[in-house]
Amino acid sequence: MTQTTQHAFQAEVQEVLNLMIHSLYSNKEIFLRELVSNASDACDKLRFLSLQDDALLEGDAELHIDIAVDKEKRLLTIRDNGIGMSRDEVMENIGTIARSGTKRFLEQVKQGKDDGNQLIGQFGVGFYSAFIVADHVTVLTRRADAEPGEGVHWSSDGSGEYSIGQIDRPHHGTEVILHLKEDEDEFLQDWTLRSLVNRYSDHIGFPIRMLETPPAADDDGEDAETPAPEWKKVNQASALWTLPKGEISDDDYRSFYKHVSHDFEDPRCWAHNQVEGSQNYTSLLYLPSHAPMDFMMQRDEPRGLKLYVKRVFIMDAAEHLLPNYLRFMRGVVDSDDLPLNVSRELLQDNPTVRKIHAAVVRRSLDLLGKLANDDAEGYQAFWGDFGTVLKEGIVEDNGNRERIAGLLRFTSTQDPEAGDVVSLADYIGRAGDDQDTIWYITAESLAAAKHSPHLEIFRKKGIEVLLMHDRIDEWMMGYFHEFEGKKLRSVAKGDVNLANDTESAEGDDKPEVSEADSALLERMKAALGESVQDVRASQRLTDSAACLVLGEHDMAPHLRRMLEQAGQ
Ligand code: ADP
Ligand code: MG
Repeated sequence: MTQTTQHAFQAEVQEVLNLMIHSLYSNKEIFLRELVSNASDACDKLRFLSLQDDALLEGDAELHIDIAVDKEKRLLTIRDNGIGMSRDEVMENIGTIARSGTKRFLEQVKQGKDDGNQLIGQFGVGFYSAFIVADHVTVLTRRADAEPGEGVHWSSDGSGEYSIGQIDRPHHGTEVILHLKEDEDEFLQDWTLRSLVNRYSDHIGFPIRMLETPPAADDDGEDAETPAPEWKKVNQASALWTLPKGEISDDDYRSFYKHVSHDFEDPRCWAHNQVEGSQNYTSLLYLPSHAPMDFMMQRDEPRGLKLYVKRVFIMDAAEHLLPNYLRFMRGVVDSDDLPLNVSRELLQDNPTVRKIHAAVVRRSLDLLGKLANDDAEGYQAFWGDFGTVLKEGIVEDNGNRERIAGLLRFTSTQDPEAGDVVSLADYIGRAGDDQDTIWYITAESLAAAKHSPHLEIFRKKGIEVLLMHDRIDEWMMGYFHEFEGKKLRSVAKGDVNLANDTESAEGDDKPEVSEADSALLERMKAALGESVQDVRASQRLTDSAACLVLGEHDMAPHLRRMLEQAGQ
């Protein structure tokens, strides 16, 4: 070994480590899933690079992950023959905060949203979870394209510093060696490790192996030699989405979700489609149970959907396979029609990708529609987390607007306390065929919407109005004018003509105006001058004396204020 040097962890990394070391985790065992998942990612990367240059495999084409224990020394080792890391990569990936996931993780923990339990993994703090169970961690690694003399040795007890040095390492890949804490003996037990692999990592695409002692050939001879232990595969090692659906249990789907999404919780639902014909691809799409803590910030995350080509992991490619408004979806897409050497540039303008994209959108909307039909409560929970995001689709996705609209939920005057539970179909069903308009109001808050004087006439006539109070609503409604042949109109804009909308048609919005009233209107118009366009008598109001009405195409005042504040 050449010279070893000491380095301090970045302050933020140390904070994460302290959390790992001192917190009591209810799910300590997730460290194994995280380390196996890293090993699997490393194998994915090497397999991908070896497509171009199979010399990288150094004659060892069978990528795998080994788990070994040394009970006496209390060591647990997770070893892979994947891509490995250079010295720079080790320093960058393990020990600095360069990775934004770690930073966000800390922010969330500091905001007191969680003690860290739920957040580990979701933010890519995976490697550090080794320190939940280990008081000392050693990493031995070499990159597949480096010389055997360029191996790296990294080691730390998680308090303040790590050491790093150069070693000889004949074989590429990475070995993570955990020295287990006093009370973590269970992770030295063969059966514990096997059951954890089965629970968390059964369907990652590489064999996970453990040593197994074969039974003695005959058991009568006292001095029969115990056979040498052999490496045996302990997981299924089949990419889950390639199996016939009938052979996949719900538990398989759930544990695979945790592997691809880094989520801690079960998914809410999923859709698995194997398409053969002119197109050949498989999609396995998951809807998470909850929004990740930092979800709204990640608009441009490429994570979410993993692209495989013929079972080979290519890249995180959500931005090519999913529109923004479905960015909460997770899963994998595996295409047989794309070349293995696809680049991001190629994905950008590729007809196959475009077709898969369209299909993924369709499947996702189907999945949501099915959830809405089968599990009202589950759908409400989904809506609470992701409804605002789905609304972006009304603006972004012309072609699917009607379908997305069917998935929207609103608060309405029908029962304002019930929250966002009314679909447009519910509204139309209640309104009856005669009413050709779906009425809504947009406002800054539910209270403002509920108490708007614009609602008076509608209340009097018993016409339901959707109370839109989400920030995005005004913007969305600027693009959304019709649903199933009914017009969508704001009660606060333009002339309100309710003639068609009630059985007892009480005439239109242009009431007879007495001479005295016209004089009053004229005087008011003169007094208000430039600040209004017109002053009119209206049947809109029943209790209030006056209200502001916008022109048909005017921007709502709260949206205008928002834009003004933003300096536009
Ligand atoms: P994430 O897996 O979400 O990127 P981790 O903390 O689990 O976050 O890992 C940090 C980084 O360290 C990985 O992105 C990878 O670059 C590197 N790494 C970790 N384990 C391995 C491994 N077994 N082989 C190669 N690189 C690894
Ligand atoms: Mg990881």
